[in-house]
Amino acid sequence: MIEFNVPPIVGTEEKFLKESILSHQICGDGIFTKKCSEWMKERFLAKEVLLTTSCTSALEMAALLIDIKPGDEVIMPSFTFVSTANAFVLRGAKVVFVDIRPDTMNIDENLIEDAITQKTKAIVPVHYAGVSCEMDTIMKFAKKHNLKVVEDAAQGVMAKYKDKYLGTIGDIGCYSFHETKNYSMGEGGAIVFKNDEYIDNAEIIREKGTNRSKFYKGQIDKYTWVNYGSSYLPSDINAAYLWAQLQVADKINEDRLSTWNFYNENLKELEDQGFIKRPFIPSECKHNAHMYYIKAKDLEERTQLIKYLKQNDIEAVFHYVPLHSAPAGKTFGRFNGEDKYTTKESNRLLRLPMYYGLTQDKKEKIVKTIKSFYKN
Ligand SMILES: *Cc1c(COP(=O)(O)O)cnc(C)c1O
Repeated sequence: MIEFNVPPIVGTEEKFLKESILSHQICGDGIFTKKCSEWMKERFLAKEVLLTTSCTSALEMAALLIDIKPGDEVIMPSFTFVSTANAFVLRGAKVVFVDIRPDTMNIDENLIEDAITQKTKAIVPVHYAGVSCEMDTIMKFAKKHNLKVVEDAAQGVMAKYKDKYLGTIGDIGCYSFHETKNYSMGEGGAIVFKNDEYIDNAEIIREKGTNRSKFYKGQIDKYTWVNYGSSYLPSDINAAYLWAQLQVADKINEDRLSTWNFYNENLKELEDQGFIKRPFIPSECKHNAHMYYIKAKDLEERTQLIKYLKQNDIEAVFHYVPLHSAPAGKTFGRFNGEDKYTTKESNRLLRLPMYYGLTQDKKEKIVKTIKSFYKN
């Protein structure tokens, strides 16, 4: 069986896990949490990066930080994971879905302005497959209409738009270190800040509404309840596991990119013959090979192809039933304008196995099997 995803194992995990355990500080904000945060801060040129228990919780923190209130509207694509919407719905916001671009599967930046109303508070671009949204345009509209931008960069760790790392362009960025993402700590994530504005309050919200973080830094001599908050900090054991990967972050990135390029080169002839469509990477974007997908002709052909790959012991999966068509999406959201591409393109999309260390013989088998499907 060729699995769709295998979480990375780089060899130093046991050593760091043991160190974490023997440090006798396995709760949040221990030595490995600090190492991971510092590494990301320096690498991504962010003002602050705080590890969280998931990207879902980073998004929830973002909604609290930008003070989303009942009745506010938040603009996002419908083609995304439920957490993108839930974080804002939990605060009572209405989600306003905008159609995607068929080439990148990202929110169509040119349709955003039409969705803006008096109630709009924020735009949430989702960098699908680690390929950046058109951020200059999005930031321009946000500035013009005085809106916040929260980047859902769950899939975008290490990817860039122009010279900036994803997650550091909007007001707040959110990363995922879930098992299925490029870098993993089992369950985990991070919230990223490009300037000082939200950092103090973020530290409070993440620590149950207390100023314990200031206490640990020695800035105050006892801590107390100062604001609303929750528990959004992960165990240091999880951070130790992530630290192993961050130390070889470039190696993991290059390995994934080489798999991505292999698929892309070898599937070109199927695109040339008009059978499939391959991903498009705009010239401003440096992606991180989070995902390799192809698009079949339609839903029916995709279903057959998944079945055929499965018969050949290859696990390939589709992605995201658009949120506006889900029961909760109907309750909590509305689709602005026409659904020209969201449903149609999501029905065609098929994700191929992609993980660190995917072997050459497996890649070759996958490509060969897809080609033989289209020959018959
Ligand atoms: C994975 C993912 C999330 C959720 O990440 P968790 O860390 O599992 O909470 C949110 N948004 C997108 C776009 C994702 O791909």
